[in-house]
Amino acid sequence: MWIDTHCHLDANEFAGESDAVAARAASQNVAQIVIPAVACSNFAAVRDLARQNANCTYALGIHPIFVPQATESDLEAVREAVRQAMDDAHFVAVGEIGLDFFLPDLSSGPMREKQEFFYSEQLKIARDFDLPVLLHIRRSQDTILKHLRRITVPGGIAHAFNGSFQQAETFIGLGFKLGFGGAMTFPRALQIRRLATELPQEALVLETDAPDIPPAWIHRMRNSPEELPRIGQVLAELRGIAADSLAQITSDNARRALPRLIHVA
Ligand code: ZN
Repeated sequence: MWIDTHCHLDANEFAGESDAVAARAASQNVAQIVIPAVACSNFAAVRDLARQNANCTYALGIHPIFVPQATESDLEAVREAVRQAMDDAHFVAVGEIGLDFFLPDLSSGPMREKQEFFYSEQLKIARDFDLPVLLHIRRSQDTILKHLRRITVPGGIAHAFNGSFQQAETFIGLGFKLGFGGAMTFPRALQIRRLATELPQEALVLETDAPDIPPAWIHRMRNSPEELPRIGQVLAELRGIAADSLAQITSDNARRALPRLIHVA
């Protein structure tokens, strides 16, 4: 069985089809799909999807791209939503949170400060509830790590990892797993493929980030959690091991990163 540790199944691209996509993924042996929230406005959507589909779980948080529209009262809303979700077996993490320094408007001045504030305040929520975090990291590895050294959370996943080996080791040392997905399927993605091939196997988890980051064989089209086994096959080939063992290893790693996954069958 496979675990998709990062999939935006509530995105518009799946409108009216999310349950069918989750069911088709289940028939492809994708036994778990983790659906991160991106803003308070989609908390109900990710929670409902997780409750409707046996193979879905969810996380709650404000994504850095949605920080510009967010207010400080939204941080209180995250804390309250997390508090209520602690009794929900389908709830697994705080996320998607992090820092995006790729977009020029977000990477400097007051908006950069606001991003760092929302990121560190949400790390505190994770710390206070002893929950792992799902991290969005774009051109922001070192600043992400700076806050993680200051605010201790029980690990989680550095999603769509694309840093250096040294940064990878620092995340691993802080209890994190590193997420690999469609980007790794492109032969020219040399650095990501080298990381995926050479990092210790205990550090790796799989993800689609659907509908984004489509793998090479569906380039520029809607990605789907149904693609996870084939993405896993690519990682198995890179590492020279059987797909079955890779599925087992990455699923065990996902459960270590997100211990609440165990509560769901
Ligand atoms: Zn995401």
